[in-house]
Amino acid sequence: MTERIVETIRTVPDLRDAIAARRADGATVGFVPTMGALHRGHCALIKRAASEHDVVVVSIFVNPSQFNQAADLEHYPRDENGDVKAAAAAGATICFAPSAEEIYPADFASSVRVCGPLTETLEGQERGLGHFDGMATVVTILLNIVQPNVAYFGAKDAQQALVVRRFVTDLQIPVEIVTAETVRDQDGLALSSRNARLSPAGREQALAISAALQASANAISDGSAASPDGAAAAGVERLRAAGITPEYLAITDSSTLEPARELSGTLLIACAATVDGVRLIDNLTVIANREAATANC
Ligand code: AMP
Repeated sequence: MTERIVETIRTVPDLRDAIAARRADGATVGFVPTMGALHRGHCALIKRAASEHDVVVVSIFVNPSQFNQAADLEHYPRDENGDVKAAAAAGATICFAPSAEEIYPADFASSVRVCGPLTETLEGQERGLGHFDGMATVVTILLNIVQPNVAYFGAKDAQQALVVRRFVTDLQIPVEIVTAETVRDQDGLALSSRNARLSPAGREQALAISAALQASANAISDGSAASPDGAAAAGVERLRAAGITPEYLAITDSSTLEPARELSGTLLIACAATVDGVRLIDNLTVIANREAATANC
């Protein structure tokens, strides 16, 4: 087994050189893009990449262009030293932590846009098209720099993973995309860098989000919901009982993200809500009309 020495690299030429040297030895490269503030969810992706590749590149870059609110960007948690340690412990080889200017030089003028329901619904509708434009652009840049064999994304951001798959296919970027399941705390709360900003009471209230998704999933699997609206209502009721009004709780086709017309096939139940001043998202995939319907829970 190859010894893993973590280097923190800040420039594109240095990263290209470090990866090229390893590739020359026959190494394969796994890549985990992150915005830092690493938690067990990120570390699960890094561990998976480390179990499959000689070189694991973890990018730590809070991408300004995918934030639609300046305050959200400003308050986004940052802990580079802690992140490098966590990434190393999980098996990373290289941490790429560039400045904003390294990624977006002064004359930068390009954008990658995925069109249609994949970007116009759910997060795209709430945060504006610029959110996914910013994400797609930075992920394209990072994939072009790292040129990994495989890039790893979390199902926690299911819409993001679908958008990435779309532009990687459309733009013929030669990389395999893996989507790994959501890591949760024992009580069901999906791990998120933003959870660090929840007060104890807010964290307690936030548990209603995963519970609401589960309520909708149960309403689908036990037949108590007759329609997607009925299934969504079961989740919204659970949120309201906890004093939360969601931005959305939607039952969609899991591959197109269009609103589900009926309770059949593979459905994505997706929710966004602000709790304790912190915007959180979560989702569950359910297979309707089948035994043991919930996945990724
Ligand atoms: P972020 O730093 O939030 O941009 O996330 C970086 C990557 O980690 C994305 O692919 C996320 O989907 C993934 N991720 C975030 N939270 C989790 C989680 N709880 N479980 C699994 N993957 C996650």
